[in-house]
Amino acid sequence: MAKGKLMLVSLGPGDLAYLPPAARDALAEAEVVIGYGVYLQLIARLLDPARQRVVASALGAEMERAREALELARNGRIVALVSSGDIGVYAMAGPVFQQLGADGNIQDGPEIVVVPGISAVQAVAARLGAPIAHDFCCISLSDLLTPWELIERRVRAAAEADFVIAFYNPRSRERHWQLKSAQAILLEQRPPATLVAVARAVTRVDEQIHVTTLAELDVTAVDMFSLVLVGNSQTRRLGRWLATPRGYREER
Ligand code: SAH
Repeated sequence: MAKGKLMLVSLGPGDLAYLPPAARDALAEAEVVIGYGVYLQLIARLLDPARQRVVASALGAEMERAREALELARNGRIVALVSSGDIGVYAMAGPVFQQLGADGNIQDGPEIVVVPGISAVQAVAARLGAPIAHDFCCISLSDLLTPWELIERRVRAAAEADFVIAFYNPRSRERHWQLKSAQAILLEQRPPATLVAVARAVTRVDEQIHVTTLAELDVTAVDMFSLVLVGNSQTRRLGRWLATPRGYREER
C-alpha cells in the first residue's frame, strides 16, 4: 500500500495573496483536503472537487479532525489539513502532534510535513507599521482548554515585563468577560495611555483597524475575528501607524 502523507498547511490571514507558495503546492498535491468550512471557502478556487475530496468539519472538534486526518494518511492517502494563519499557532498542528504522541510509534506513521504561514499577529503588525519590532508575546484569551488562572498569570507577567502583547481569541459571545479582565490586569501595571490596536478580519473584505488606548479600549467592539495588540511603554503613534523602537537606549 502507498505510504500516506499528512501535510499541515497554513493558509495565512485570509487574502490568498498571503497564501504561501509552499501551501499552494501542498494543496495541489493533496487527494483529501480537511478543514473548518470557512477556511475551505477561502481556498475554494484552488481546489478541484473532481479530483480531490474536500472534508468540511465543524469549528471545535479539533482532536476528532486531527484523528481523522491521521487515519486517512495511515491508509495511504495524501492529506492536507488546513488552518488559517500559521497552523502551528493556536491551530491544528497542536492536536495532530498530541494525537501522534498519544499513539506512540512515530517512526512507522505516515510522512508529516508542516507548511508555515503568516500568523494574524504578523498580518496585523504589517497593517500598523512596526509595533512588534521589539520583544512581543502572544496570549490566547480562550479558556476553553486552558484554566483562566494560568492565562491571568501570563497576562500579569507580560504586563510586568513590558512586552508588546498580541491577544488571540480575545472575545466571543460565550467568552465575553476575559478581555475586560485582562484589560483590568494590564491597567494595574501599565499607563492608561498605553496604545492598543483592535484589528478585525485583516486582509479580508471586512477588515477594520482601530487604534485606541488601554483605558479607552471598548471591549464590546471586539469579537472572535479580532486580534488585540497592546503596545509596550515605548510604542508610539505616528499618524495612522504604530511603532515600537528596536532598542530603547538610543530613544530620546
Ligand atoms: N492559526 C491562527 C490563529 C487561530 S486562533 C493564526 O496563526 O493566525 C483564532 C484567532 O486568531 C482569532 O480569534 C483572532 O484573534 C486571530 N485571527 C485570525 N485571523 C485573523 C485576521 N485575519 N484578522 C485578525 N485576527 C485574526
